[in-house]
Amino acid sequence: MPGGVLRHPVESPLRRATPRRRVGRNIRTMTDRIIPIADARTASIRPPDANRVETPTGRMLDSRNRPLRDLRISVTDRCNFRCTYCMPKEVFDKDYNFLPHSELLTFEEITRLARIFIAHGVEKIRLTGGEPLLRKNVERLIEMLSALRTPEGSTLDLTLTTNGSILGRKARLLVDAGLKRVTVSLDGLDDAVFRRMNDVDFPVSDVLAGIDAAAAAGMRSIKVNMVVQRGVNDDQILKMARRFKGSGHILRFIEFMDVGSSNGWRLDDVVELPLRPLDANYEGEVAERWAYCDGDGEIGVIASVTQAFCHDCTRARLSTDGKVYLCLFAQHGYDLRALLRADASDGQISTAVADIWRARADRYSELRGRATEGLKKIEMSYIGG
Ligand code: SAM
Ligand code: SF4
Ligand code: SF4
Repeated sequence: MPGGVLRHPVESPLRRATPRRRVGRNIRTMTDRIIPIADARTASIRPPDANRVETPTGRMLDSRNRPLRDLRISVTDRCNFRCTYCMPKEVFDKDYNFLPHSELLTFEEITRLARIFIAHGVEKIRLTGGEPLLRKNVERLIEMLSALRTPEGSTLDLTLTTNGSILGRKARLLVDAGLKRVTVSLDGLDDAVFRRMNDVDFPVSDVLAGIDAAAAAGMRSIKVNMVVQRGVNDDQILKMARRFKGSGHILRFIEFMDVGSSNGWRLDDVVELPLRPLDANYEGEVAERWAYCDGDGEIGVIASVTQAFCHDCTRARLSTDGKVYLCLFAQHGYDLRALLRADASDGQISTAVADIWRARADRYSELRGRATEGLKKIEMSYIGG
């Protein structure tokens, strides 16, 4: 890239977790794709020269004319669940090398980067992980982020995705810190199904209590995300729809992303509720919205496998250790932490972010198929879902 700051990804050996025990075929397939921590295939970034530092315009377009609007920040790669589709026990066991604390971005570093991304057009920030509520004092980070303003002076659309396990204890603190929206992941209502899916025997009643606590604490919007896996929890779809209909919480069904093998799941194949389609709330919304015909709320479908929405994907992802990824399925990240810790100026980091976004051409889901077979994926708990 002439005049740019990006270099080709460094070709060095990956530090991959190797399963210690003999594992089943599915798990082995999954571990083959896992690049859990300290992704070695990082594009190094040279700090841009001081004389080419550019002023952010608030509308940074990538090579496919997509603006930078959303930033997902993974605040920890750790989790107290071992969801079978995300952090299978066989891989994420007691010998697994999670990132040491010194490798994590500090709250000050995260806030500094957030400010830079906002100047380039980011309006929405989602904290994720791992389980973000496990990051010590995460409410302090929320306080820091909710004080940020867009160039027009608006507050951020700040939200957080959680497994809900400690939401009951944290809800009040989160609301007081300025969090108004939360998404709770919940894959079923039957206790046995839920315990089997989280694989740590966690009871569903505690998550439901967490949702109630968030509503009671004054959380203005609560979404519930259910990852649907055929033959695993598809029998929970109607139960979930009935439970959350009329609750004021929006339930969203998410296709299980088992890249290359899952053909995805279609709402109208399985759900017999009378629904009518709704318009998107904003450009780049990933969920298709459906309303109950009796006006008693809405549900959403995130069909990222069967109905790719790359053409208006406006999301960047910041990993726990400060690498920016331009796609959930990206092959490498760009090491912003290295710039932060090498005393680069805000202007230099901002220019590096502009260079990275301008060069972005990612559209994995549109290309999914033979061209993407066998590609190594970054693990969801590290990059943030
Ligand atoms: N621990 C938090 C939680 O579960 O909400 C936040 C991180 S988790 C990685 C974010 C979201 O990614 C969750 O809703 C989870 O269900 C979803 N997820 C993880 N692996 C997935 C997969 N293979 N396909 C679809 N969604 C997945
Ligand atoms: Fe943990 Fe969330 Fe992954 Fe489940 S989906 S293992 S709760 S990070
Ligand atoms: Fe965005 Fe990548 Fe998902 Fe396409 S595959 S919608 S580019 S994150």
